[in-house]
Amino acid sequence: PGHGSRYERSAVIDLDAIRHNVRRLADAASPAKVMAVVKADAYGHGAVPVARAALEAGASWLGVAHISEALALRAAGIDAPLLAWLHTTESNFGAAVAAGVDIGCSGWELDRIVAAAREQERPARIHLKVDTGLGRNGAAVDSWDQLVGEAMDYQDQGLLRVVGIFSHLAVADEPERPETDQQLATFREVLAVAEDAGVDPEVRHLANTPATLSRPDTHFDLVRVGLGIYGLSPFAGQSSAELGLRPAMTLRTLVSQCKEVPDGQGVSYGLHYRTQGDSTLGLIPVGYADGVPRSATGGPVRVAGRTYPVVGRIAMDQMVVDLGRAGLAGADLLGAEAELFGDGADGGPTADDWARAAGTINYEIVTRISPRVPRRFI
Ligand code: PLP
Repeated sequence: PGHGSRYERSAVIDLDAIRHNVRRLADAASPAKVMAVVKADAYGHGAVPVARAALEAGASWLGVAHISEALALRAAGIDAPLLAWLHTTESNFGAAVAAGVDIGCSGWELDRIVAAAREQERPARIHLKVDTGLGRNGAAVDSWDQLVGEAMDYQDQGLLRVVGIFSHLAVADEPERPETDQQLATFREVLAVAEDAGVDPEVRHLANTPATLSRPDTHFDLVRVGLGIYGLSPFAGQSSAELGLRPAMTLRTLVSQCKEVPDGQGVSYGLHYRTQGDSTLGLIPVGYADGVPRSATGGPVRVAGRTYPVVGRIAMDQMVVDLGRAGLAGADLLGAEAELFGDGADGGPTADDWARAAGTINYEIVTRISPRVPRRFI
């Protein structure tokens, strides 16, 4: 924080919005339970405060990619069921077992997990992951039988417990595509194989945010929701508001210089933009080192109630808006609040707008806001 109540640069995280979104998704998922996906520092929102808010609002599980992320949550005193699903041969399975972190297992990890359980003298908790069509991690369907058999042998020896079986969807954000039906059918088949082999998991889980909102037949016992708890829409044609979600992150700063320039003034590296007529340039002290994509020229910044496109190249630390384009030439907006994105409730700019400007998805906009931007929780 700077002095007083105005902050130089901050990503304001509205934990009420997080709680609202979790309740909204829990309603959609019911009677299935909710796993709040808080990997990547809760998509840039701050893993520990978001995890706490999500649990308060009714999430009963947490999910992350890496064991290191799970251990950070445990170190903060969070003791909810917690799954980590992406590992390397150097991952610390022993620490996961010791901390009671559930371990996603695609196959190759199984012997290492069991070795860790022996060492810790404590059964590992695992969720078997199957690749039903996404082509990323998860056991190949062809190897499923064998994996289930091996896991059950270890379970019978008291070395692990198969707590869950899960898979991940590839195209749930495009509800008209047929592949989700195929993945769902495959998931049902592998569940049947596992059940025939005596596996009796607590939780079977498949759905992400778009499937939670659009495909009740994918909910099973638990949904894994990330994007939605941050209030963002996974669907190209539907806004957050249309889905009953509230974007939780507002990226805000102050105009750090306001200067009158003549007609034809070039702006930023490459001089790709030139003023048309005398104008006033507002300097915004946020750049690609703060995680705003360099490719997002034209992205919106709201200053003093009006929204301006960024002109010229976005630099490492700063970007420029041409206040003259909106007839504000000569206005002294030094120190005025500048909002890059927020909840969009009053027509203000959104992470979706920045995603469009940069040719990317809203996930990437919020997740990449860098640690140089202080998070402030309200
Ligand atoms: N489950 C897994 C395995 C994931 O990797 C992710 C995130 O990509 C999610 C669930 C959450 O997806 P979403 O943010 O679309 O809800």
